[in-house]
Amino acid sequence: MENMGRVILHADMDAFYASVEQRDRPELAGQPVIVGGLGKRGVVSTASYEARRFGVHSAMPTAQARRLCPEGVFLTGRMEAYVEASHQIREAFLDYTDLIEPLSLDEAFLDVTGSVRLFGDGRSIAESLRERVWESTHLRVSVGVAESKFMAKVASDQQKPDGLTVVAPGGEAAFLAPLPVSRLWGVGKVTQNRMQARGWRTIADIQELARETLVAEFGASSGQHYYALCRGLDDRPVVPERSPLSVSRETTFEDDLLSDVQLRATLLSLSEDVGMRLRRKGLSGETVRLKIRFPPFRTLTRQARMQEASHDDMTIYKTALELLEKVRTSGQAVRLIGVGMTDLVARSEFAQSELFGNPVEEGRVDQTLDEIRVRFGNTAAGRGRGKRHDEERPGR
Ligand SMILES: [Mg+2]
Repeated sequence: MENMGRVILHADMDAFYASVEQRDRPELAGQPVIVGGLGKRGVVSTASYEARRFGVHSAMPTAQARRLCPEGVFLTGRMEAYVEASHQIREAFLDYTDLIEPLSLDEAFLDVTGSVRLFGDGRSIAESLRERVWESTHLRVSVGVAESKFMAKVASDQQKPDGLTVVAPGGEAAFLAPLPVSRLWGVGKVTQNRMQARGWRTIADIQELARETLVAEFGASSGQHYYALCRGLDDRPVVPERSPLSVSRETTFEDDLLSDVQLRATLLSLSEDVGMRLRRKGLSGETVRLKIRFPPFRTLTRQARMQEASHDDMTIYKTALELLEKVRTSGQAVRLIGVGMTDLVARSEFAQSELFGNPVEEGRVDQTLDEIRVRFGNTAAGRGRGKRHDEERPGR
């Protein structure tokens, strides 16, 4: 087994639930915030870094956390806010690669090997991605960069919070050497105790063992596994989700936008981008989401489920416009606007409904526009209207 010249990122949000709470309630900034079950048998989901200083950590009984940190702010959490942030993070990741393997709401592997030519080496991509996540969520992410999933994951944990750690090819064994054996994947409590009994405490201790010794001790499969892993060798691929959770685009205006006409033009342009992304991925969406931010930071999202899935620019636009007109009065200042589609289905499922007399004309127009956009860049084509007012995201 050997590494294959890949560039893998492991991105892991810092104290995710607690950070979302601190972001949305500025009075909690700098406070020990503990999100989890507050009942008798409740368990801590996430502790802010301030709370961790008191010894509080995730999976600890909340009662124990209260004893350690009586001054702590204990919250049950708002899953919908975390899911919303998770959507935004996923969107940011999609700017760099489609090869994303989510591990949880706040953690994912990204294979960016194919993006290096476009965006620069692993470190540059990770720096840009960290900036991008901050811009769109005001949350911090730690990133590890390496040739394998295992190394990237170990690396992302190394300088938390707000860390970036790159393991250069060839540097794996030295990087792992001082770490405890528990950092090896597959080493649980039982194996750890067994290793400890042999006097093997650090990964360096394992690196010194012959393959045969490990096989004799743990069996062929586990023995080989530890032998490779302690050298940082791990050839498992990043396995992307079958389809993204959502496709969305948003624009932040440099100056708050007041004009209804310009806002509608932006909304149309964003709808076209979303439609094009869906068509490229062979997807349709059943739900249109509108996101809008009124200055300074009042952000609303509204969504509408359509009668059937669509990837059609004008359908997306019209639905988004209806949502917009429900939440905004004419002339009201807007700082950010976004359009997204969720509840995605593969286009082949959708195509069947097209057989039953649904209009396809608009779809043909969209396809032609896509071809022009791809050939001449995204700003070349649009339905007769003025210059685009939105900006493409960095790196696109
Ligand atoms: Mg995390």
